[in-house]
Amino acid sequence: MLAEIEATVAQGGRIDRSQAAWLWTQADDADLQRLATTVRGRFHPPDQATYLVMAILNYTNVCVAKCDYCAFYALPGQEGAYLLDFDTLRARIDAVVGLGGTLVGFNGGFHPDLRVADYAELFRRIRAHYGDSLSVYGLTVAELMFVAKVSKVSYDEAAATLREAGLRWITGGGAEILEDGFRRRHSPLKYKVDDYYRAQQAILDAGLGSTATMVIGFDETLDERLAHLERLRDFQDANDGALASFLCWTYKPWHTELGGHEVGTREYLRWLALCRVFLDNFVHVRTSVLTRNAAALEGLRWGADDFDLPTEDEVTQKAGATVSHDFARILDHGRALGLELVHRGPWPLRLPRAA
Ligand code: SF4
Repeated sequence: MLAEIEATVAQGGRIDRSQAAWLWTQADDADLQRLATTVRGRFHPPDQATYLVMAILNYTNVCVAKCDYCAFYALPGQEGAYLLDFDTLRARIDAVVGLGGTLVGFNGGFHPDLRVADYAELFRRIRAHYGDSLSVYGLTVAELMFVAKVSKVSYDEAAATLREAGLRWITGGGAEILEDGFRRRHSPLKYKVDDYYRAQQAILDAGLGSTATMVIGFDETLDERLAHLERLRDFQDANDGALASFLCWTYKPWHTELGGHEVGTREYLRWLALCRVFLDNFVHVRTSVLTRNAAALEGLRWGADDFDLPTEDEVTQKAGATVSHDFARILDHGRALGLELVHRGPWPLRLPRAA
């Protein structure tokens, strides 16, 4: 089987789900790493990787979805529930910029009182203040779905309104494992997978950029993980490779209802490699410093080509992630692997041909 897969990959071909399952369960680390490096080499110079400094701004922790893997949320009215105002957010953005940040992502909860118009107003003000000097990834797909529903508008309408307000990107966050069995077990109030992809499609069709994400290390089965990858690859095919990147990180189990254990570095790197091989229609595969710290940079030798240096993210920090602002130390870890690390600017919007 290995020889067959190696021949396929060497010729620029695509592996199927059963081959992916074989690689995960049977392949040596060195074989997986080599295959991932081959696919990475179709898109990027072998000894170069890119990064930027960014923050995830958690504008509210109010959420009614009650996912059992989440240590971040507070129910409406619960002690500790918050919603940040514009001036507070602006001060937080200024702090990120002061640390060399060029990108902020907005990620909050399913706040039942916020409407599409509120987000449009926020992003309009942010764009007026920062212009093109700051990349803004406003909301995740999951948040867009919720706010569209409570605003009683379609995903198309919600995405178009945000686009008109000056927003350019939404992230594929809130995806965890995109498989309905998983979703029923852990976040039955959040969304169904078909619905998630309808929202992703609406985002791209509105002319917004988007990304793909995955989180591993809950209690998901290999089948559920592969279902996530296969559907994602199909969606990316159908959209001419429009999703700009794929980022995989690991579940942090501390202070969550679900609990459990965190996956180790070896499993993370193996999974990253498998993703790189399987998702052959993604230009960028990213490794997660937020959840793996400096060790994440080893992922650049397991198929990844890009990473963030995060300055804050309360969602993962509350569940056990530690954020370091000692960027030089983290970058040294990558350079010790023989990599040239290039600070990058924003990626161009990638849109499907029909959009
Ligand atoms: S993961 Fe997101 S949607 Fe789920 S409870 Fe936490 S904040 Fe809410």
